[in-house]
Amino acid sequence: MGTREIALVTGASKGIGAAIARSLAAAGYDIWLNYRSDHAAAEQVAQSIEAMGVTCTKVPFDVADAAAVKAALAPLLEVQAPFVLVNNAGFTRDALLFWMSEEEWKSVLSVHLDGFFHVTHCVLDRMARRRKGRIINIVSTSGQTGVAGQVNYSAAKAGVIGATRALAKEIARRNILVNAVSPGFIETEMTEALPKEQMLAHVPLGRFGTPEEVAGVVAFLCSDAATYITGQVIGVNGGVFI
Ligand code: NAP
Repeated sequence: MGTREIALVTGASKGIGAAIARSLAAAGYDIWLNYRSDHAAAEQVAQSIEAMGVTCTKVPFDVADAAAVKAALAPLLEVQAPFVLVNNAGFTRDALLFWMSEEEWKSVLSVHLDGFFHVTHCVLDRMARRRKGRIINIVSTSGQTGVAGQVNYSAAKAGVIGATRALAKEIARRNILVNAVSPGFIETEMTEALPKEQMLAHVPLGRFGTPEEVAGVVAFLCSDAATYITGQVIGVNGGVFI
């Protein structure tokens, strides 16, 4: 049994989650790598992590499915508890509210909000008993400002921001720090279809961010340099929301 701490990262088969898993691996954490369906991509990320000399345990499940979350995490939690939980899994189903189906509304709320609840609820007891831990929720500028065509996603991310602040207050006495990292436009599959030139007009830094630029802030929040930060929403958005 090693002495390394564990970081559980949801939605880490690609994009921002994969970059976070890699940067926490580089910081010396063993990784529990969650994703939903892309086994091949997850395997590649896992190999790149193990090449850094730490272990990577793949734990595929749908964060929106309470029973699946429990079934996957309970056996791991019997043996060890993570120091870090990054709630990053997410997706978008954009539509103007007028045309938004109930399924588009519910599925987005479910992955982001229920997903936050299911995974955090599962891990929290073990973390609290250790009296140390970091929970980082990946939210979005959309949840801070509201974005047309994303009423579902903006509501979900604003909800997670509220949950971040409330949970930070609940568990500060247990020495668990809870923060949100809020990316703007980041180059991933999620933003591939966006009209980039049009969006860039709104970004003071004049470019999309990289997953690594988000991951660096998450790694900082998990480090010994960030022991007095809790309940905060930290923007990584090139100035798009100030
Ligand atoms: P991405 O490239 O599309 O990757 C999404 C990841 O989440 C994949 O690993 C996917 O797994 C996983 N996932 C999706 N639904 C899931 C579920 N129900 N259960 C478990 N895993 C699930 O997305 P990204 O751009 O990296 O976004 C990551 C996070 O950052 C999201 O919370 C997103 O809302 C947020 N964010 C992104 C941007 C941006 O510009 N990209 C901006 C602000 C916030 P599989 O592919 O294996 O199914």
